[in-house]
Amino acid sequence: MRLSFEFFPPRTEAGQDSLIKVADTLDTFAPDFYSVTYGAGGSTRDGTRDTVRLLQRGGRTAAPHLSIGEDDAKTVRHMLSGYQEDGIQRIVALRGDVPSGVGGRSARKHNAEELVRWIRDHSDRHFHVEVAAYPEVHPDATDPMQDLDFFVRKVDAGADSAITQYFYNVDSYRHFVDRCARAGVEIPIYPGIMPLTSYEGIVRFSNSCGAEIPRWLLKSLELYKDDEKSLKAFGVDVVTRLCEDLLAQGAPGLHFYTLNRWGASRAICSNLKLDEARGSAAQAS
Ligand code: FAD
Repeated sequence: MRLSFEFFPPRTEAGQDSLIKVADTLDTFAPDFYSVTYGAGGSTRDGTRDTVRLLQRGGRTAAPHLSIGEDDAKTVRHMLSGYQEDGIQRIVALRGDVPSGVGGRSARKHNAEELVRWIRDHSDRHFHVEVAAYPEVHPDATDPMQDLDFFVRKVDAGADSAITQYFYNVDSYRHFVDRCARAGVEIPIYPGIMPLTSYEGIVRFSNSCGAEIPRWLLKSLELYKDDEKSLKAFGVDVVTRLCEDLLAQGAPGLHFYTLNRWGASRAICSNLKLDEARGSAAQAS
């Protein structure tokens, strides 16, 4: 199975030092790569590249996210050439979210399908291109069929694999993967896993990205919201089971949204015995 961990670029040197400690801890699981997010509009352009380089210096495989935002083809080509020079071979290609207050879909110039085409035009098959997928339907989509059509277009444009928005309902992933297969999609679709570590954080984030927290889960998180230790223990238990179910049902791997912290991701991966399964295999090779 494939394993990856996602980071965002730290703003300070102290943040970079602590991120490297997080990566050192997660290295136990011999991830296939670490990905680094990119703020649409170029807000983290240097930060993303610096963080990718920092991770690479430790001998790790790193994959920058590239959010097209309002960037033009020339700017994107320049970034791609830079990454090629740095020896990067994998990119997570996204539309990105327009800053709040900038209007709806009509205010957006580009979509991820275009970015995938620009990447292929720039360097053919040099980069392994990951795209985003939405088992619970992207908030901009008018209906699930339209959403699936747009996803298929990204794949046809040349995506090699996809990582999903997080979800806590295994059926939504299974249903999405089935529908993709019926639509002729053959690329692997990796579930994105969001550890549960804070009540307010997960509620706020889920509202904005359209991920559903099932009622039973929300009620339990509410119960523990003033008891951090119990909430984290409960969260690790729930997300471990989610991952077990996904892998048992044939998910090709897992992508963890770490939020630059190792605690919950490490606990879940240890529960899944990924240190034994992957760490020792990496040592042997
Ligand atoms: P697209 O694939 O372009 O489309 C998003 C939705 O818009 C589609 O689902 C569809 O409903 C609609 N749509 C697509 N094409 C069209 C069209 N031609 N006409 C009309 N409607 C259309 N955001 C960041 O800013 N930085 C990051 O680093 C980042 N990393 C992410 C990593 C993962 C794994 C995921 C799942 C999301 C990430 N995001 C990131 C969030 C992402 O940018 C947002 O969800 C964004 O709103 C959509 O990006 P997309 O690449 O899926 O867009």
